[in-house]
Amino acid sequence: MTATHDVIVVGAGIAGASAAAEIAAHRRVVVLEAEERPGVHSTGRSAALWILNYGPADVRALSAASRPFLEGPPQGFAAHALVAPRAVLFVAPEGQEAALAAMMAEGQGLEELSPAAARALVPVLRADYARAAAIERDGLDLDVAAIHQGYLRLLRTRGGEVRLDARAGRVARTGGLWQVDLGGGEVLAAPVLVNAAGAWGDELAEAAGVAPIGLRPLRRTACIVDGPAIDGFPGWPLMGDAAHSWYCRPEARTKLLVSPADETPSAPCDAQPEEIDVALGIDRMQVALDIPVRRVEHRWAGLRTFTPDGSLAIGWDAKAEGFFWLAGQGGYGIQTAPAAARLAASLVLGRDPDREPGLSGIARRTDPARFHSQSSGRRAAGWGSAH
Ligand SMILES: Cc1cc2nc3c(=O)[nH]c(=O)nc-3n(C[C@H](O)[C@H](O)[C@H](O)COP(=O)(O)OP(=O)(O)OC[C@H]3O[C@@H](n4cnc5c(N)ncnc54)[C@H](O)[C@@H]3O)c2cc1C
Repeated sequence: MTATHDVIVVGAGIAGASAAAEIAAHRRVVVLEAEERPGVHSTGRSAALWILNYGPADVRALSAASRPFLEGPPQGFAAHALVAPRAVLFVAPEGQEAALAAMMAEGQGLEELSPAAARALVPVLRADYARAAAIERDGLDLDVAAIHQGYLRLLRTRGGEVRLDARAGRVARTGGLWQVDLGGGEVLAAPVLVNAAGAWGDELAEAAGVAPIGLRPLRRTACIVDGPAIDGFPGWPLMGDAAHSWYCRPEARTKLLVSPADETPSAPCDAQPEEIDVALGIDRMQVALDIPVRRVEHRWAGLRTFTPDGSLAIGWDAKAEGFFWLAGQGGYGIQTAPAAARLAASLVLGRDPDREPGLSGIARRTDPARFHSQSSGRRAAGWGSAH
């Protein structure tokens, strides 16, 4: 078997699309997507936010390093801006003061607000709710579809290919190549396979005979509710409690996105919302905010997939040659995508990511070898004679 491509990327969500676009500048790339269109799973179900003070250190570093791209993408990447300003207000009811203090101690650019100042900003905040508050003033709303489509377009412009309805089910390493049987007698082969299969990352590894890293898909629910018209409402910040048990964000003149910030363990699947979680989100929001809800207009759920330690897994598998992990994006896969894609491309191309702008030191924290303590050293693909 000879190589049909240099790199096979499995999964056309934001992770696979962005990394494939970066790698395609230098290698022949094909992306395999099981669904009939890209973005059906987690990528199409996010809350579309960029928050710096969110997640562990590697996530915060990748979020910060992604911001310049999101604010100033390359010419032709999208027809309009990918981001819009959205402040983030964290409020601490009784019992959560310590959680907020810890966030302030560790956070960057977080400004303490008195409960009165928080109420001046969001007049529907109930007087007896907040004991303390903090604001991140330069959070962002993201246009996820534009970011995702922009990367898919960039990939194609660079000669890359996306195969839809193409599940990588039978995967084997033979003769120094990953071979993916697409059925009907078609087999794709490449020295490198990038695992960007989201919640299915461990399943893909097992199908390829590679040890899983212990990915945990957790279901999260969101809904759009319709409330009253309130002056200034669309410009209000995203709001949530310090313990991350609910959040909400104005969507349009009378619409509010609400989530109970649930984290229910799930098998990899087409996640669906449970009524109880929708009700919990609205209830917790209404304990904090005096906003009547006329009806729930839309509800959905998606999977946020975490590694055992909550940091991302970006790097070569410790044992399986040419098997590259791009997994565990949790609740931050969109806001970290531009930098995570550059980091992945740098490693796949055999470069030193510590020399890439904004990425110094991150590869050590995301190295998936940490999940295999018996690791036998790096297993980068040898770019062989085909290159
Ligand atoms: C409710 C909710 C709110 C969120 N809010 C935010 C937010 O505000 N900001 C943020 O940054 N992130 C947010 N996230 C997280 C973000 O959506 C994810 O981290 C991100 O979408 C993960 O992208 P992905 O490409 O890894 O996964 P996915 O988008 O799930 O893509 C993986 C793809 O791989 C495909 N696949 C799997 N196995 C195979 C196979 N064997 N062969 C071929 N294809 C395969 C799947 O079909 C899927 O399309 C949120 C998530 C949820 C659920």
